[in-house]
Amino acid sequence: MSALPYSFELFPPRNDAAAVRMLEAVDAFAAVEPAFVSVTFGAGGTTSRHSLGVLQRLLDAGVSPMAHLTCTGLGVSDTARLVRQFLDAGITKFLALRGDPPADGVPEPATSLRSAAELVQLIDRVDSERVPYAEVPLPGLRASALAERRCGVEIAVAAFPNGHPGAGVHRGDVDALLAKQEVGATLAITQLFHDPYDYARYVELARARGVTIPIVPGVVIPTSHRRLVRSAQLAGEGLPRVLAERLERATPDEAVAIGVDAAVALIDSLAEHDPPGVHLYTFNDHRPAIDVLHGIGALAPTRTITTGAP
Ligand code: FAD
Repeated sequence: MSALPYSFELFPPRNDAAAVRMLEAVDAFAAVEPAFVSVTFGAGGTTSRHSLGVLQRLLDAGVSPMAHLTCTGLGVSDTARLVRQFLDAGITKFLALRGDPPADGVPEPATSLRSAAELVQLIDRVDSERVPYAEVPLPGLRASALAERRCGVEIAVAAFPNGHPGAGVHRGDVDALLAKQEVGATLAITQLFHDPYDYARYVELARARGVTIPIVPGVVIPTSHRRLVRSAQLAGEGLPRVLAERLERATPDEAVAIGVDAAVALIDSLAEHDPPGVHLYTFNDHRPAIDVLHGIGALAPTRTITTGAP
């Protein structure tokens, strides 16, 4: 799997200590030249300023950033304004998502977009209108980023090998992916899964329905029992029982090694299905992610990552 392109997911830090960890991850990832690094976005725009800060940091480090963007909980004009802010910051790659409605039952604005497919179209429209962002730019954005901006954006979308928890059936989600492709999405990144067969079956079904865009498997590195349980809950996935038991019994160091091995084994077992790349959900923890890349033979064995971490 040595030629497999790889990418990473980061989330905006919530405090100073987390910010230090995130910055170390940016440097470590920049050194291994990923295809891109994506940055999550809090539904309702709750983290837009922090997401932009991380995206800007990636640009400064010479890494191609991909901005997650959700449309739930925001009116269309607010969403368009956010898109314009991101474009003006020099972002040309987006992961267009619907997002999940807030758990506390806050009502949706009447003008909210209803699906990721609608957001794909909105991003395209805002980009092609080239309307200058009239309001004061967010702090930290370089004026030169505006000049450097390429024409046209690349828009990725989410795919769900085991069906979206809200859809219930596999076929429903393949139709959703097809709808997103038809309005201009050029890449899909999958929700986590534990069984390579889930990915293979989904890709086969998608191809049969006319989906032609690359479908990149998203892989979690389960470096603790808590992380495995939490990520499975968020994704609406079941727990792999044997792995969960091993992680529960392990010391923290053993758990990291088990998690890295599990991710390497999963990626290796995808090889026969010819994935177009692999996207690692890193939880801003760069060392296990880099270890996974070594494990799958994606990095030269002699290459070391130097960061400020002890
Ligand atoms: P949509 O594609 O709009 O689909 C939503 C639901 O509608 C699904 O049930 C789908 O099957 C159904 N549907 C839509 N269109 C059709 C159709 N034409 N035919 C049949 N069914 C249809 N959430 C965040 O808040 N922030 C993030 O940063 C974030 N990052 C994510 C990254 C990845 C890679 C993934 C996989 C998920 C991420 N999420 C994130 C979670 C995501 O926002 C939720 O899963 C959300 O509920 C669905 O988003 P979507 O973009 O898939 O929505």
